[in-house]
Amino acid sequence: MASAVTASFPFAAALDVATLLRQAPLEALENRILVSHVLGLSRIQLITQSERIVSAAETARLNDVFQQRLDGEPIAYIVGEREFFGLPLQVSPAVLIPRPETELLVELALERLPPGASLLDMGTGSGAIAVAIAHQRPDAAVTALDVSDAALQIARANALRHAPGVSFLRSDWYAALNDAGHQRFAVIASNPPYIVAGDRHLAEGDLRFEPVDALTDHDDGLSALRIIIAGAADHLLPGGWLLLEHGYDQAAAVRALLDAHGFDAVQSWRDLASIERASGGHLKSAG
Ligand code: GLN
Repeated sequence: MASAVTASFPFAAALDVATLLRQAPLEALENRILVSHVLGLSRIQLITQSERIVSAAETARLNDVFQQRLDGEPIAYIVGEREFFGLPLQVSPAVLIPRPETELLVELALERLPPGASLLDMGTGSGAIAVAIAHQRPDAAVTALDVSDAALQIARANALRHAPGVSFLRSDWYAALNDAGHQRFAVIASNPPYIVAGDRHLAEGDLRFEPVDALTDHDDGLSALRIIIAGAADHLLPGGWLLLEHGYDQAAAVRALLDAHGFDAVQSWRDLASIERASGGHLKSAG
């Protein structure tokens, strides 16, 4: 039987890039991501520089980051970056790692945002939603808020890189907006904490390392969604849309809340996994 290439970790000193990649202990894609990150090589350079010898300092750093990953640390936190809507975004353990299903919310908002209109992203975290929308639509006036100063710092860095026009506000949901007067938005979008307290997923995989207050409301999963829906009419323009991401089993409950608060055209949309992942509706138009 031909002997399979076996992982040999921690890495020995003075390996070349190709040997190191063969011996790396994770799946091939993750091996490449971590080696590119530490050596500062593109995916192509991993191939074109496959004979390059890895220095002692680089080997020590590689052993550290591979061990972090073997201990469960999300790869996005190790490399400090995750792509969302085609944009490389800075991330840290202060913010949720942007997820592909959240791109649905961005698409829904882009389809409903009139030219030159205003949009509010509530609980922006890394800034993913606000930055993706503002990057696509430089005409829009995008405001993003979060209660976490650490999150706002990351979000501002992402805006600076991709969509410098985004305005930021530190706010516990609508609180600071109420103080600031009566700005109204054409679209409000949010991906709030919606996991039920004690859900087993909170203790599994990447979620163990993510900011718990961004994942769960520490309650029935609907409390942040309730606050956002209840306050939206005071902060939307006539005809304005409220668009919300929610959990796989929350669509009916969110639609009921939207109905109860007078929204029209209340509906849910499925993500790429065919799960009802976002719901929304709009206020009645004036006149
Ligand atoms: N979609 C995330 C997850 O289930 C949760 C994000 C959130 O609570 N907003 O992993």
